[in-house]
Amino acid sequence: MDQEKIGRFIATCRKEQRLTQAVLAEKLGITDRAVSKWETGRSLPDASIMLELCNLLKININELFTGERLGMDQYKEMAEQHLMEMRRQEERTNKKLLSLETVIGYICSISFLLMIFAASFAVASTWWRVALIVAGSIIFIVGIAYCLKLEHDAGYYECPECGAIYIPSMKSVIFAPHIWRNRKMTCPHCGKRAYHKKVLTK
Ligand SMILES: [Zn+2]
Repeated sequence: MDQEKIGRFIATCRKEQRLTQAVLAEKLGITDRAVSKWETGRSLPDASIMLELCNLLKININELFTGERLGMDQYKEMAEQHLMEMRRQEERTNKKLLSLETVIGYICSISFLLMIFAASFAVASTWWRVALIVAGSIIFIVGIAYCLKLEHDAGYYECPECGAIYIPSMKSVIFAPHIWRNRKMTCPHCGKRAYHKKVLTK
């Protein structure tokens, strides 16, 4: 903290508010000598009166500590940093969901194929064959349904025609023809039908 800079800043703000050192001191219940000490950078305002001082000078605590007014630019910069952090967070979460989808998709498909293979070649009794095919199909259907839900929930789809980024209905995700994660759907914004790409953030 630059005590002298803060001091000069306090003096400037005090004058802007048309307060003398004595009047400011009186409002804060301290001596005008104390105010003079801040303004020459020899001491800092006591924590117990900082908020009240800021109110009187029409500044905020951040500005008091930096010794200058923070413009809208700096606030915007801070807001943008927060937005970027939120985007990164969203991207991480959606990536995890999609990796989970891939793992579940592979496990279900492989189990299904193994069970069908066993039913066709490895077991002799009809009862076992039927049981394996039924079990394999249930695992496959439940697994794929779960994968579709994960894919729907993670991120958005982007329309190549108008650039709209949106969340489609579960129904259109289920019934859309697809190549890997690109799904042929009707864009809710421009109404054109095309392969829409999966995107992780807006
Ligand atoms: Zn579109």
